[in-house]
Amino acid sequence: MLRTGLVIDTRYQDHQPGQQHPERPARIGSLLRAVESYRRPGLTSVSPRLASEDEIGLIHDTAHIGRVAATAGQPGFAFDADTQVSALSYDTARLATGGLLAILDAVMDGEVDNGFGLVRPPGHHAERNRAMGFCLFNSAAIGAQYLRERFGLSRVLLMDWDLHHGNGSQHSFYDDPGVLYASTHQYPYYPGTGAAEDVGRGAGAGYTVNLPIPAGWGDAEYQHLFEMILDPICRQFDPQFVLISAGFDAHARDPLGGLRMTEAGFGGLARVLLRIARDHAGGRCAALLEGGYDLTGLEKSTLRVLDEMGGEQLDTPLPEVASRPLLPQVVSVQRAYWELADKS
Ligand SMILES: [Zn+2]
Repeated sequence: MLRTGLVIDTRYQDHQPGQQHPERPARIGSLLRAVESYRRPGLTSVSPRLASEDEIGLIHDTAHIGRVAATAGQPGFAFDADTQVSALSYDTARLATGGLLAILDAVMDGEVDNGFGLVRPPGHHAERNRAMGFCLFNSAAIGAQYLRERFGLSRVLLMDWDLHHGNGSQHSFYDDPGVLYASTHQYPYYPGTGAAEDVGRGAGAGYTVNLPIPAGWGDAEYQHLFEMILDPICRQFDPQFVLISAGFDAHARDPLGGLRMTEAGFGGLARVLLRIARDHAGGRCAALLEGGYDLTGLEKSTLRVLDEMGGEQLDTPLPEVASRPLLPQVVSVQRAYWELADKS
């Protein structure tokens, strides 16, 4: 059984984006209860820490950090219609980023094999200079940059399977070949970015891989795309660390999306990525919670990914899938950079 470091903390409930907001404290309350009764060998608790301003500054500019910091202690502030904060949001966001960094430290130091940060607020929409889409600081992007600067890694895979495209993550590394950003996301949909043709720029060309998914697709289609497109590209990239922006709002139960994933499907995606981590990165892998707004779908999917992180299923074949549509536009634009099989 592999050792998995788990970050979760009651303080992740302290960020209050407003009544009726889907990104609500109960998401963490629900996960706290779920992991309380979840037992498997090798699961160990990792304590989160507050990310420093310098660490957040690996991705964000000082003006943005200052704007978020200025909301600390204030009764409320709205960065946009979706992105509101409360008195403790700044510290909660620092704790979210610091939760991932604590996991990265534990994995790199060999205390655990992999890890999962069950944090909020999410981060992947946050841009260098602004908060948006429920996100204040882009923890996953900060984590990727932290791995390079603190540990000297030169190739980090950042796979984002959240329902939404991680515009902030993509833009953080758009001309940078050191981080391969790959995303599956419902398209067209919020935030509007993530077209198949957006592949990176300059030295980063080919290191952004967007898979825009039509509404209605689910486990079989996702698994097929992972096996036929993402797996070969990621193996050619040869990552030294596999980071996952693990949102669960592509779950069929989710109120925000139009996709039909199940917890079993997310488990399969994790298995593909964990195999890549095993074969290329010494097993080093960390997942970070992004979206996911149906509490049942969120709990079940999280536990299923934690099951996979234990490693017992790594060599078990994935189910045969009947539905095998590909995204021909993605294959055709990515073929300029990566070897991909002709047919599905
Ligand atoms: Zn999302």
